[in-house]
Amino acid sequence: MGTTMEKTHTPCPWAITIADRFGGRTDRYIETRGSNSVTAKEPIASVADGPSAEANANLIAAAPDLLAACKSLVELMDSEDEVVVGCHCTNTDTGFGPMRCCWCIAKDAIAKAEGK
Ligand SMILES: [Zn+2]
Repeated sequence: MGTTMEKTHTPCPWAITIADRFGGRTDRYIETRGSNSVTAKEPIASVADGPSAEANANLIAAAPDLLAACKSLVELMDSEDEVVVGCHCTNTDTGFGPMRCCWCIAKDAIAKAEGK
């Protein structure tokens, strides 16, 4: 069996740029956000105008967040640790600042996917 090269998606966050086109069409582009004004945006996908275009664009833009949230939740469920259902964000004085829990990260990803 040969070696497997793991392919990873373009780093996130992914955001939606809306372009109003001639004739009332609205195209949506999912792109990386440039980390600063110099960094170019990298195109991910385009969604043609249509009744589900906004929802589809929201779902595509949230894909990396949803993947990360699913991985965190699976990791939590697979762990030996006792699983605390619901929010368990910490606002500790460990010097690392507040930590968002995977439940809240998942809820944020779902909200982004739903355009909220
Ligand atoms: Zn939380």
